[in-house]
Amino acid sequence: MSRVAIVTGGTRGIGAAIARGLKADGFSVAATYHGNDEKAQAFKAETGIHVFKWDVADHEACADGVARVEADLGPVDTLVNNAGITRDATLHKMSYDQWSAVIRTNLDSMFNMTRPLIEGMRERGFGRIVNISSINGQKGQMGQSNYSAAKAGVIGFTKALAQENARKGITVNCICPGYIDTDMVAAVPEKVLEGIVSGIPVGRLGKADEIADMTVYLAREQCGFTTGAVFTVNGGQYIAN
Ligand code: NDP
Repeated sequence: MSRVAIVTGGTRGIGAAIARGLKADGFSVAATYHGNDEKAQAFKAETGIHVFKWDVADHEACADGVARVEADLGPVDTLVNNAGITRDATLHKMSYDQWSAVIRTNLDSMFNMTRPLIEGMRERGFGRIVNISSINGQKGQMGQSNYSAAKAGVIGFTKALAQENARKGITVNCICPGYIDTDMVAAVPEKVLEGIVSGIPVGRLGKADEIADMTVYLAREQCGFTTGAVFTVNGGQYIAN
């Protein structure tokens, strides 16, 4: 069976590792991005992976984007909802824009991207959906009420969607990464990051490839009995704090 995957936010960080991993596993991959053209073009030149630009927070842009990918690569049977942002502030200092940008990009995107694909997956009787949540959606994180709410929402979305589609050959799973060494974590102030790493039992940040490996496993055709599951990949941080 020829497999086609969309990885949102697939040109940098965790998403780029996932896109590479899926390509190495035999998938045709469309990696999407939002603004960083230079990075996306460099990624395309280096990997040969197709790149597409649209905003996952924009409902219509997602439907158009999915149609473009399917016209170029064929029906999409695998979706990795990975794109995400942070706009950190304690709630008493958070602006509506900070709240809304995170909810739209990290949570509305689940609907925007999955809705145009799910009917085709159901008709064909096969699909793999992997949603990237966060340890901070499980435990909450001060300064991230917007992000924690969105990422907790991703877990609920995963479980509901898994039930709706279990009889249609579609699995829907969720990965909650801990702190992974990407641009997103590079934005965390050094002192705060030191404190975070000291609370991770394995004593280091995670690697993007460690999230990619689990995503590729969940995307495989033979992984048909795992659905509605939430995988923690966090160096033991969740159990230790
Ligand atoms: P990065 O900031 O390194 O990369 C983000 C990617 O998402 C980029 O490709 C970016 O595109 C894309 N993106 C951002 N906003 C949009 C948008 N509105 N529309 C389309 N694409 C968009 O992030 P990470 O790799 O660190 O994180 C990936 C996912 O993993 C996120 O959902 C994040 O919340 C989650 N996560 C990350 C953790 C970490 O420690 N890094 C921990 C737990 C969860 P462009 O390059 O154009 O900006």
